[in-house]
Amino acid sequence: MLGLMQDRPLLISSLIEYAARYHGNTEIVSRTVEGPIHRYGYRECEVRSRRLASALARKLGVKVGDRIATVAWNGYRHMEVYYGVSGMGAVCHTINPRLFPEQIIYIVNHAEDAYMFIDLTFVPLLEKLADKLGCVKGYVVMTDREHMPDTSLKNAICYEELIEQGDDAYAWPDLDERTASSLCYTSGTTGNPKGVMYEHRSTVLHSLIVLTGEGLALSSQDAVLPIVPMFHANAWGLPYAAPMCGAKIVMPGAKLDGASVFELLSTEKVTLTAGVPTVWLMLLNHMQEHGSTLPELKRVVIGGSAAPRSMIEAFQDKHGAHVVHAWGMTETSPLGTVGNLLPKHARMSKQEQLDVQVKQGRAVWGVELDIVDDDGKSMPRDGKAFGHLLVRGPWVTKGYFKGEGGNILNAGGWFDTGDIATLDPDGYMQITDRSKDVVKSGGEWISSIDLENTAVGHADIAEAAVIGIPHPKWSERPLLIVVKREGAELTKEAVLHYLEGKIAKWWMPDDVQFVDAIPHTATGKILKTALREQFKDYKLPTHDDE
Ligand code: ADP
Repeated sequence: MLGLMQDRPLLISSLIEYAARYHGNTEIVSRTVEGPIHRYGYRECEVRSRRLASALARKLGVKVGDRIATVAWNGYRHMEVYYGVSGMGAVCHTINPRLFPEQIIYIVNHAEDAYMFIDLTFVPLLEKLADKLGCVKGYVVMTDREHMPDTSLKNAICYEELIEQGDDAYAWPDLDERTASSLCYTSGTTGNPKGVMYEHRSTVLHSLIVLTGEGLALSSQDAVLPIVPMFHANAWGLPYAAPMCGAKIVMPGAKLDGASVFELLSTEKVTLTAGVPTVWLMLLNHMQEHGSTLPELKRVVIGGSAAPRSMIEAFQDKHGAHVVHAWGMTETSPLGTVGNLLPKHARMSKQEQLDVQVKQGRAVWGVELDIVDDDGKSMPRDGKAFGHLLVRGPWVTKGYFKGEGGNILNAGGWFDTGDIATLDPDGYMQITDRSKDVVKSGGEWISSIDLENTAVGHADIAEAAVIGIPHPKWSERPLLIVVKREGAELTKEAVLHYLEGKIAKWWMPDDVQFVDAIPHTATGKILKTALREQFKDYKLPTHDDE
């Protein structure tokens, strides 16, 4: 027997419609590329998104399913494009401008983007690439007439003029909830980038979970600042979740340095912010230098890479902001696990609580996790055994756009994340490595992430990376690569001495190399492929040891 509930589709347009009606004056505050701070309410955002949707359909001939790209910072116009494009049934394809030009060319052509919405910052970039982007019919520059640049881009359209041509009376269409809504390519550190295609239903379900207490506990009481870019896994879903609950949203634009982020957090009384460890390092350094505080800031979400213990401590002890460590990936929309504490942890010491918080957290409802060995057999959930992390759920991808990579699910419908992890009896998951980065020493695995995070606990170490170097006896041994803090005097011996007792003896790096900088991926992660290339002729001092 079937139930008798109404079959209303779960649509992205419903999020902004709800915000417009129930939180119409709640602000979206943006640092614009043109300079000034812009602010307006959800009501106006919704009207402008609808005007955009109608202009797309009627002026530019965009149809349901067409891909419309964005190359833009976090800002209110980008938010309007999110809603205008997906709301009308087209696909909002966010592109990471930090990718190599060849990757951007590949992605645009693979997605067959019909139009591109670009911030002023990226006009010169697109001018250089346009010749190779044959599918693109026009470039909408996200600014007003006054700031329109002289450009060689063919068919450059002014965003504000396009919106003006839109129709206020446009009504959001009733789409099938499984309609594709947005597209995001994974950075593809190996091979070509692959497209993850989100749908309305998965996006709405994901937003609901972001709002729950076991998710990020976002509500209308919050002001949220996503530092994580809207081109990085939809800014972790915050541009959808915020209107669903009516949270004020603060968009940082192009300025992500410590001083600029601090200023916005402070003046806009932000209560929750989210980003990768690299941006937090800049913010914490800035606050330390200036002795500044953020009394309104309650929670800091750290994801994308492991949150070092010292960073969690700094936020919590020095600044009174609780750290929420989270894990996910483009393929999981991205929220997978969240490191909230359980009631029993409240009775524990600070250090014991930190032991829990450095883990990536427990699965939220809807996300199933398993760890398996090389033969696909499930491993014990004892917090010790580590294996390939598999994931399954209604906002996890079942395949890449245009079938790239073939069938990516196993027989049970699980997706292999490429991460290596442990699961403890309470369900806390801890990433020990990416499967391609783990150091394989004498048949055992050494976690490069663990070593890196332990090393950055040293006050004179700004950043650390570990790669496996070939070794005749052990197959691989760890090399620790270190960037010193400015002005610090640091020796190999001092670093190794610091690690003693903090890690297993056989994990001790065979050498420490100091470098000026460590290369990063377009999403702010350590680029291990580049480090391996840099050190490909390097020989460990232990190479010839028996
Ligand atoms: P990319 O940055 O390559 O585009 P994603 O943003 O999808 O891809 O990255 C997902 C990967 O980032 C995960 O598979 C995992 O390896 C890593 N990651 C994400 N969050 C964390 C975390 N909290 N701790 C450690 N690693 C993380």
